[in-house]
Amino acid sequence: MYSVRLWTVRHARFFERVYNMFEPVLVKLHPIWSKLGYDRAEKPMSKIEQACKGLLFDCKMCGQCALSSTGMSCSMNCPKNLRNGPCGGVRLNGNCEVYAEKRCVWVEAWDGSRKMKNGDRIFAVQKPVNFSQQGSSSWLRVVRQIAQREEQAEERS
Ligand code: SF4
Repeated sequence: MYSVRLWTVRHARFFERVYNMFEPVLVKLHPIWSKLGYDRAEKPMSKIEQACKGLLFDCKMCGQCALSSTGMSCSMNCPKNLRNGPCGGVRLNGNCEVYAEKRCVWVEAWDGSRKMKNGDRIFAVQKPVNFSQQGSSSWLRVVRQIAQREEQAEERS
């Protein structure tokens, strides 16, 4: 919901803290996801993720969440689907070129990033959206990546 996502961006630092506490818990559960099977965990987890992030961020379940790099403003709400915005059409009042009554998603992203501890992640260029991951859980994808990195590091040591 538009008003909720504006509120969430105003509290970007709080949600950054929440996520920084949440992610290690998910990673700790890696042995369980592995035992259960990531594919089997996908459906229930993506449902939970969609419910939480849909309410707070108007999440579109792109499967490659970039919220921590976009000031807690979901770039998938940009009508041009820009992964690295803003476009040149931002209005003088900071509203969107396409939706004149709404704030530019990327103006919001910048504002949110200035409130965050790691807000400078906004300067990193985001990869284009891989739409084949649409609807999948970003949480499980991140956990699997971190767990794999940790396992590789252990093998090397
Ligand atoms: S003004 Fe902002 S939200 Fe609107 S299309 Fe451009 S980048 Fe996207």
